[in-house]
Amino acid sequence: MTELNSANASELTSDTPIMAFAQLQLAAPLARAVAEMGYESMTPIQAQAIPVVLQGRDVMGAAQTGTGKTAAFALPLMQRLLKHENTSTSPARHPVRALVLLPTRELADQVADNIKQYGKYTNLRSAVVFGGMDMKPQTLELKQGVEILVATPGRLLDHIEAKNAVLNQVEYVVLDEADRMLDIGFLPDLQRILSYLPKQRTTLLFSATFSPEIKRLANSYLQNPVTIEVARSNATASTVEQHFYSVEGDDKRHALHQVLKDRGLKQAFVFVNSKLGCARLARSLEHEGLKTTALHGDKSQEERLKALEAFKSGEVDLLVCTDVAARGLDIKDVPAVFNFDVPFNAEDYVHRIGRTGRAGAAGLAVNFVSKSDARLVADIEKLIKIKIELEPIEFDENLPDIRKQGHINTGRRLYQQEPGDSRREEFPGRVPRAPRNDYRREPVKSQDPFFSKPYEPPVLPAGEVPSWEAAAVRPGVRGISSNIKTKRKVAALFKAG
Ligand code: AMP
Repeated sequence: MTELNSANASELTSDTPIMAFAQLQLAAPLARAVAEMGYESMTPIQAQAIPVVLQGRDVMGAAQTGTGKTAAFALPLMQRLLKHENTSTSPARHPVRALVLLPTRELADQVADNIKQYGKYTNLRSAVVFGGMDMKPQTLELKQGVEILVATPGRLLDHIEAKNAVLNQVEYVVLDEADRMLDIGFLPDLQRILSYLPKQRTTLLFSATFSPEIKRLANSYLQNPVTIEVARSNATASTVEQHFYSVEGDDKRHALHQVLKDRGLKQAFVFVNSKLGCARLARSLEHEGLKTTALHGDKSQEERLKALEAFKSGEVDLLVCTDVAARGLDIKDVPAVFNFDVPFNAEDYVHRIGRTGRAGAAGLAVNFVSKSDARLVADIEKLIKIKIELEPIEFDENLPDIRKQGHINTGRRLYQQEPGDSRREEFPGRVPRAPRNDYRREPVKSQDPFFSKPYEPPVLPAGEVPSWEAAAVRPGVRGISSNIKTKRKVAALFKAG
């Protein structure tokens, strides 16, 4: 049995019948694959969506990654496509009949992987295309013909323009993680892609939340959809223990070490708000003896996949990541999530901590809150409807004081503590620190010239543009995440469409 989001599952069981896959009368090749993957009973989103999609209805589904939504759309869609299945080698006999659009490469890769597994006993062909990879192998695969195409919007448009992908026989389109696609600024790309599709089709839209922009998107492109909401939107899993510690600047790394030690944590995700902060923090933690890797938008595809694999295999303990890079990662059993930076967007808080506490396992979400984060914390409180109490962090006398090992510039202004500065009293848990002991693996190096250099994004090989992050950059706008679009801009794009 693989991981599922227990919060969503438990909220639903009261009004959602628990159904076994065996009751669904899936075609034998699909049923066999699903059984081999260990799926026995359907998750709530599957129990609700599969029958609706089998009827050919449009669906607007509120469900997050981890709820089993890939199978919820992929299995019925594949069942309906089986009538086209054939073994001909002619590409003309394998036109694209289902298109699945996702915001990130990792997510596309994951969904394509699941589809391959569900379809392994069928003759349906599937492929995935995303940016940051050579177009040639993707082109070859497309030219041979595929029934199910999984894609990120930018790269799909490249293939459409190069006439590698023809979409005039598409019967199903899935807009997965639609809220994220809008956040990233993919709306114009989506509008273009949708304009290439036949009007007569089934459209399935999945989104973690139904924001006004998502509702507008649904109104424009879905016909009489069935709304399926399996999770109270913005709910956090009841199995996740959440802590909000008052910690400033460089104390955060020290606090991270403290919590890792106190909780005996083996692995965790550490979220930061910027690529710059991500690279630097990972570097610092590595130097402090923690096996760390960074996952952000400037990493090449190969580097990202390597980072993921290293984390999955346990080679790496801490995965320091940005929201966009981490969205939808299907990594099981992450015991803890640290918000080293409080997210700019409260909804990202829900997504971030959704990585832990899955499948009924106890999870831990640790937030380091500095004084300037008060508004962001208030936003989270409003969204998750849980009263947030700030806690002081208790530093252990035996914990080595890593703050003495060099300052990292995370892009935020830190206050310099003057002797007698009364602000220190706001952190009552602080106690004097004693010399290092040995809980870390490697000796600590004191200085790294990396931190005195300005941030330089890596030079990517030709053709490897982190396009989905680049697309989100809005020159001239300071102080807000480049992934946040103003409502006015999004609304204007809808009108333009
Ligand atoms: P998803 O939300 O589609 O990313 O799925 C999250 C994880 O749950 C994946 O590892 C799936 O393979 C797994 N999964 C999906 N449906 C089921 C099911 N009915 N029973 C067990 N595992 C499932």
